[in-house]
Amino acid sequence: MLDKQRIINRFISYVTVDTESDPNSDTTPSTSKQWDLANALADELKSIGMHDVSIDENAYIMATLPSNVDHDVPVIGFISHFDTSPDFTGANVKPQLVENYNGKDIVLNKELDIILSPDYFEDLLLYKGQTLITTDGTTLLGADDKAGICEIVSAMEYLIQHPEIKHGTIKVGFTPDEEIGRGAHKFDVEKFGADWAYTMDGSQVGELEFENFNAASATVSVQGKIVHPGYAKGKMVNSMYIATEFINALPRFETPEHTEDYQGFFHLSQIDGKVDETVLKYIIRDHDKKHFEARKDAMVKLADDINSEYEREVIRIDIKDQYYNMRGKIEPVMHIIDIAEEAMKLLHIKPIIKPIRGGTDGSQLSYMGLPCPNIFAGGHNFHGRYEYVPVESILKATQVICKIAELTATKSYYI
Ligand SMILES: [Zn+2]
Repeated sequence: MLDKQRIINRFISYVTVDTESDPNSDTTPSTSKQWDLANALADELKSIGMHDVSIDENAYIMATLPSNVDHDVPVIGFISHFDTSPDFTGANVKPQLVENYNGKDIVLNKELDIILSPDYFEDLLLYKGQTLITTDGTTLLGADDKAGICEIVSAMEYLIQHPEIKHGTIKVGFTPDEEIGRGAHKFDVEKFGADWAYTMDGSQVGELEFENFNAASATVSVQGKIVHPGYAKGKMVNSMYIATEFINALPRFETPEHTEDYQGFFHLSQIDGKVDETVLKYIIRDHDKKHFEARKDAMVKLADDINSEYEREVIRIDIKDQYYNMRGKIEPVMHIIDIAEEAMKLLHIKPIIKPIRGGTDGSQLSYMGLPCPNIFAGGHNFHGRYEYVPVESILKATQVICKIAELTATKSYYI
């Protein structure tokens, strides 16, 4: 049995350390305060009995749990990030425990009248009778992804204390700066040395994700010609009208607010316009590689078509790929999904397999040679004051990690 109180205490010890990352910083970690938790985590991994605990100059932490079986078993890894999102403050987090949740409104902060209500967040009703950890309404919680870290550390501790559970070599990796898109950047996949890994960074109990968007950004610069408006006939070219023509020629319903599941989109995120120049910022997203390429081609063709109406090139378009759907890297090794699914089923958790409408560190790691699907960590309402996590979900994720370790050593999925 997992020690519930010990795990609650561990989680609280993590979230009360401020580790907010900063997209405007060039250093790694992006904020020096991330070292506070990183150093403590490295110490804790040593104290529970992990081997080869290392923390590099960028605060990436790695550790090994040696195999306790004689036969060859694939080396698997579990990864989480210890930074929290710069979207909302992570300083002075004061976690609150709601025991035996009754399914009603939770007053996060009486003074400021901040309520966590199932009327808005109906997921709460999944956790009636459970113990929830919430914020006091003035900060985020940081269950994203300190729940993941807590689960991995707790699972390693459990496996160390229960040598009767057979497992192969397990690698643990904790990263800074995931929330600003750099968690995987300096991750040393070779040093990590796992055949595959799982990020513990999903939300609801049961989530298992191995598909994410293919992603690109596009900057569309439209060059006009400024002339005195009183004497502009036949001379002025207003870049804002040309930009509008470009915007309106793209499919209006293939946008974030009209799409879901596997539907891709063009998203106009910013317009910066004057007569002589207008710049449009887009992101392009699609799970399907062919559709993704077709979207990029369509933008280039549209620019070409508009340019052909003018004597000079009025539109320049710069498209940059950002990340790719990890599915392409997971499909050849589908047993890593099968093992995770089987582990959940054995623990009476219903696997929820759905495409991520975004990217994960795991998608980058998958393209760096470490296939890396994502598993639930249990938290909800990430990056804001309404973030919460049920303790039971943390316990379940911890059990899933132990069960995956056990199944990998005892079943022959990978043959
Ligand atoms: Zn996260």
